[in-house]
Amino acid sequence: MREDELCARLENLNRVPLGHLPTPLEPLSRLTEVLKGPELWVKRDDQTGLAMGGNKVRKLEFLMADALVQQADVVMTAGAPQSNHARQTAAAAAHLGVPCVLVLHGQPPAEVPQGNYFLDRLLGADVRWSGARPMARALEEEAETLRAEGRRPYVIPYGGSNAVGVCGYVAAMAELWRQMRDTGVTFDAVVVASSSGGTQAGLALGARTLGYGGSIVGISIAEHAEPFKEHISALAGGGGTLLGLEDAVKPDDVVVLDAYLGGGYAVMGMLEREAIAMAARSEGLLVDPVYTGRALGGLIDQIHSGTFSYGERVLFWHTGGTPALFAYAEEVGP
Ligand SMILES: *Cc1c(COP(=O)(O)O)cnc(C)c1O
Repeated sequence: MREDELCARLENLNRVPLGHLPTPLEPLSRLTEVLKGPELWVKRDDQTGLAMGGNKVRKLEFLMADALVQQADVVMTAGAPQSNHARQTAAAAAHLGVPCVLVLHGQPPAEVPQGNYFLDRLLGADVRWSGARPMARALEEEAETLRAEGRRPYVIPYGGSNAVGVCGYVAAMAELWRQMRDTGVTFDAVVVASSSGGTQAGLALGARTLGYGGSIVGISIAEHAEPFKEHISALAGGGGTLLGLEDAVKPDDVVVLDAYLGGGYAVMGMLEREAIAMAARSEGLLVDPVYTGRALGGLIDQIHSGTFSYGERVLFWHTGGTPALFAYAEEVGP
């Protein structure tokens, strides 16, 4: 499908402007030189603008519009205490004048609020804790409590990953497509951190629809590739239905690397620490301990093992998360 046709389909959906878009597309010349592999570029979705930015802003443009159309009087979502998605949802809600309830995992931290959790509170979100309850159940129970009080909650799933949220990254792929056309710079592969799956699903669906010839490589943050590919394929299917697209993203078309799960979700190891330091010192670029540090570490490892080599051009899609750096200051080290 042509890009203008895809953009026309996207324009038929409800959308509120929240982000500073398009985000910059920049070469990583010094990192390229250090690694002596493919020519590396970065797509700066850490610079989407809203309250320190990140990838969830693109999903929230569609999700928040849907909440407004449904006349919700409160938006809700859930996540880890350092959830970037929760922080961006709180910011979007504040910007649009809608109350926000966040259900965060576990118990309130004993120490001084830091990073994203600090910002959630600053942004005026009503933070509730899941305690011993599974996250999904805690979110549903808190929504039920609000309904019993006569409120109309709009519940955004974990990571903003559903059919509506996926459209944000279909639009992002169309944005990259335009930038590739305008600059004449094209990429053999796009590498992105993949966790709740909506970002990769949207990119893969957009890529498929536009006929992009490169690959969309997800570095898994917490899931094993096999069930995760099915999940991403299903999310893309949901987005495709909303947009009336015929091309499907099959599980076998989804590229997920799950070799970098390390100690598990949000557990920082050497891979992340080295990638964070390398990006900072070679480019003045900040990546985070949970998502983009792991994804960049994975990309560096793939370059060392020869998956991407000299002569190719690879785009690292930066998805944000830098506020979490402050919560991990001790582990990140000097
Ligand atoms: C949420 C998030 C991701 C993962 O995006 P998904 O759509 O959940 O897969 C990657 N990086 C950062 C910084 C995030 O906050």
